[in-house]
Amino acid sequence: MTTLNSWLDIPGHHDFSIYNLPFGVFSTSDTSTRVGIAIGDQIIDLVEASALGIFDGLSVPKSVLENEFLNDFIALGKPVTNEVRTRIQQHLCDEHSPLRNAPEIFINQAMATMHLPVKVGDYTDFYSSIEHATNVGKMFRDPENALLPNWKHLPVGYHGRASSVIISGEDIHRPKGQIKPVEGSPEFGASQRMDFELEMAFIIGKSTSLGTSISTAEAEDHIFGMVLFNDWSARDIQKWEYVPLGPFLGKSFASSISPWVVTMEALEPFRVPGPAQDPAVLPYLAYEGNKNYDISLDVFIHSESSEKESLVSASNFRHMYWNMVQQLAHHTVNGCNVNIGDMMASGTISGKSPDSYGSMLELSWAGSKPVPLNNGEERKFLQDGDTVIMKGHCESNGIRLGFGEVRSKLLPALP
Ligand code: CA
Repeated sequence: MTTLNSWLDIPGHHDFSIYNLPFGVFSTSDTSTRVGIAIGDQIIDLVEASALGIFDGLSVPKSVLENEFLNDFIALGKPVTNEVRTRIQQHLCDEHSPLRNAPEIFINQAMATMHLPVKVGDYTDFYSSIEHATNVGKMFRDPENALLPNWKHLPVGYHGRASSVIISGEDIHRPKGQIKPVEGSPEFGASQRMDFELEMAFIIGKSTSLGTSISTAEAEDHIFGMVLFNDWSARDIQKWEYVPLGPFLGKSFASSISPWVVTMEALEPFRVPGPAQDPAVLPYLAYEGNKNYDISLDVFIHSESSEKESLVSASNFRHMYWNMVQQLAHHTVNGCNVNIGDMMASGTISGKSPDSYGSMLELSWAGSKPVPLNNGEERKFLQDGDTVIMKGHCESNGIRLGFGEVRSKLLPALP
């Protein structure tokens, strides 16, 4: 990739570099909710940028940009949305661009409120990390046969709850539910085993009609971009309820996402091969080319009694056994339709080493191994007042971009 130089002063090594230009939805005390692009510590107001004429000839209606969600913008199609991003990139590198004399289009991110970027119609959660599925299988079932017989034949998933997908910065309360002690009858109370799950989610960029399927070759055309995804989990509620139909109230109380949608076009330089799949997959799951992405992921816990956050996990999206095109091909192979704004989460992203596990369940090995924090405290599961922060970035040949962060605090259970 050629090196780009902008006339704008962008701090070095920034997640929102000139190579990224992710889309999001923001408002300020002075402006209505609208679509923006992140660059460095600033946001480019696309309503104002459009008024300068830089999208002329593209037919991007103002109502699409002055909008509470990206769905209508995404619906313009990749030829238009990619061109919007490319034109912003070209203008930021062109010393004679009118943007240079238009300070009104730049908003300091610290002055803006970020909103959920898309209206999420449906949310599906996969279970595609072999390391995570193996760890959970060892703890909950059989250490010798940790993976269930279907796992290497299809990308296992379940339909999650779209109504409780929330934006970074929105805090959550510890959920309540049925919990079954080892001995005795189930009891009602607040979860005592609150956990995060380090995931990424892709956002559907092109809808399909009922009865049609998306092939692995077509799948990328239906993926708009990606966000960081914290799939909050209450392990004690989950453990009692999940057989036989899978996750329910132990998951549905909240899932937090990062506000900036990084496009697949920005992620293009970071493609890598996925792991070998053995046994061979059925033909509808076969694919060609590099479909995994090298995205470094970090999870931090910030205890209320600590000045600094503690790194508790460092993982990478590249290790996923099932990739996004396989997930989407499988999801639609029965004729299930998808809509713009639907969110497909990866499942917990664990690496091979214990310091790369993507949940407290695995990091503390079901509560048997405390995880140290930097102030001398330790955690088996999350405590009230803990803030969980997830970050992700890509770096290759001097080009860097990132996802910013998803951050949310766990508050005590409501009375
Ligand atoms: Ca999950």
